[in-house]
Amino acid sequence: MNDVKKPKRFIAGAVCPRCSEMDKLVMYVDEQQRQVRECVSCGYQDVMTDGGPEELTTRVNQPRAGEKPLSHEDEVQVVNILDTNPGANRKDH
Ligand SMILES: [Zn+2]
Repeated sequence: MNDVKKPKRFIAGAVCPRCSEMDKLVMYVDEQQRQVRECVSCGYQDVMTDGGPEELTTRVNQPRAGEKPLSHEDEVQVVNILDTNPGANRKDH
């Protein structure tokens, strides 16, 4: 049996439906490319099977061409650029 370590990401602010602990849920993709939520506190598992995960990933990572970004996404992007690169991209020096 393979015991391959898969990347697991904690879901910030997520509450476990079983034990009600916050920030104990991790999310990862299993061998069948299903998105699995798992609680590291009580062992609760929830497999998402009905087409949700792919759409979620696509929307978050790659905004569709021609589709306007949500206003709050645009805002976050601008703030990040200003915060992380203070004057780094200036060409008018
Ligand atoms: Zn739990």
